[in-house]
Amino acid sequence: MSIEQTLLQRSNSKCELCGSESELKTYDIPPVDIADAEHAILACGNCRTQFDVGADLDANHWRCLNDSMWTPIPAVQVMAWRLLKRLDSEGWAQDLLDMLYLEEEVQTWAEAGVPTEADDTVTSKDSNGATLLAGDTVTLIKDLDVKGAGFTAKRGTVVKNISLTNNPEHIEGRVNGTRIVLLTKFLKKAN
Ligand SMILES: [Zn+2]
Repeated sequence: MSIEQTLLQRSNSKCELCGSESELKTYDIPPVDIADAEHAILACGNCRTQFDVGADLDANHWRCLNDSMWTPIPAVQVMAWRLLKRLDSEGWAQDLLDMLYLEEEVQTWAEAGVPTEADDTVTSKDSNGATLLAGDTVTLIKDLDVKGAGFTAKRGTVVKNISLTNNPEHIEGRVNGTRIVLLTKFLKKAN
């Protein structure tokens, strides 16, 4: 029996996280050392598009974890834990995470997929993952409405001599003579 067939049987042909029956596919849980049914879940299209660590999460959709996290299947527990971890700015997700008890082995597996703090919070990175430092020059990769200043910073605008902030996703720079906060994901470091 193929992995997908095993999973279809295990899940009764439903997404193992939200119960949807649309666009079901096998998802191998990273890091993928072993490709087998024990290390994979069956997930619908909507769930799968949000698995990437960089993807935006639709918090309402993930209320489904309230049910699915109680599964006895370790692979599903691992995905539920990782998603709740990413949602931990939501009070309800934090509450669920507090209740979700994982066996030690499963806990280790769950944590293996989470980027370390150092990757995530200490350095500012541009849209390509290049590290940004104070004094760097960056280019905007999309038009940005500057709230409060009443203008649009055009794609391609060059911002010189940026400064870093406490938030790694925000830098400050001068555009049209106004000092504004820019999101690093909309920037490209100039060479
Ligand atoms: Zn789903």
